[in-house]
Amino acid sequence: MKAQIKLGTVFGIEVGLHYSWFFVALLIMFSLVVQFHAVNRSWTETVVWVAAISTSILFFACLLAHELSHALVAKARGLPVHNITLFLLGGMAQIEKEASDPSTEFWMAIAGPIASGVIGLVLLTVAWSLGWIPWRPAQTPGVAVLVWLGYINLVLGAFNMIPAFPLDGGRVLRAIIWWITGKADRSARIAAQVGQLAGWGFIAYGISSFFGGGGLGGIWFIFIGWFLLKTAGASLLQLQIGSLLRGLRVRDVMSQDCPSVDGSMGLQEFVDELLLKTGRRCFLVIDDHRVTGLITPHEVRDIERSRWPLVSVCEAMRPVSAIHSLSPDMSAMQALEMMGREDVNQLPVVVDGQLEGIVSRGHLLQVIHSRSELLGR
Ligand SMILES: [Zn+2]
Repeated sequence: MKAQIKLGTVFGIEVGLHYSWFFVALLIMFSLVVQFHAVNRSWTETVVWVAAISTSILFFACLLAHELSHALVAKARGLPVHNITLFLLGGMAQIEKEASDPSTEFWMAIAGPIASGVIGLVLLTVAWSLGWIPWRPAQTPGVAVLVWLGYINLVLGAFNMIPAFPLDGGRVLRAIIWWITGKADRSARIAAQVGQLAGWGFIAYGISSFFGGGGLGGIWFIFIGWFLLKTAGASLLQLQIGSLLRGLRVRDVMSQDCPSVDGSMGLQEFVDELLLKTGRRCFLVIDDHRVTGLITPHEVRDIERSRWPLVSVCEAMRPVSAIHSLSPDMSAMQALEMMGREDVNQLPVVVDGQLEGIVSRGHLLQVIHSRSELLGR
């Protein structure tokens, strides 16, 4: 999930929005307008819209608080946090490394639901102190906003505690199994399988509710079930790949015979003479005996074909400064994850500013393939 709109930085963590978030924001806003109209018919159109818009914005802040609490525990435990992205189904804090012990996993996972639960209770208490009587409709627009946000935070906390990996509850379950058995991978596999089971449960419930007259609520359950199945399946696949790559470091899988190209060469000549003839995909760009960047078909495609004769390799390449690099001691799995995050197929291996080799996704997939054939997993 890549953020398409960057909002800013909080506690050194980038916060961004995925386009699908706007769909949710609009859905929430329109359903709130309907709901606030129903709560009190005497409120004017303006009051209702202001209440609905401010509730949507505050809901965003609550989601962010949930994700930030995951991220801050991770940071406190020494795990680097890349960014937080809000999307269709809530938020996602991208934490660069997996927890290395069950207690970190436990606190990191449970921090979010705790934050949502506490925010929910505080908001409802404030509403109550302003005269709201529980289970009754709110009397003023301000209280209506507090009550809606209070409930939704409690729901958010409870939903995330469903023990379906990779939801927070699934991570908590994983941490507990890990703590009891001492096995990191096995606990994650069990938690992901429970997640798949929960996904099928949601779908079955959604279907029976839809045909039993439950209407659109049933479709929502089917959708959540499908999401759980998809994410749990992806986690299982990742675990399988992780176990196949176990023990391999970047230095084991990098290739050192990278072809190079002079930066001043024309792009058209590069395509005709090197890219199309050699079958190699990744070239180092050299200028004055120094590596200044990488060029692959991906970079070439970014330049309009009619401009190929006018542009040099140097102008088309991805400069070294714009590429995340690997160190030889990183695990092969980390390299694969980084390629996924950066959406690239090759990453350079750099030691003290000196290029040592290249790791490519294609090569890693070959390694995974041969290992799975020989190890029979
Ligand atoms: Zn969470």
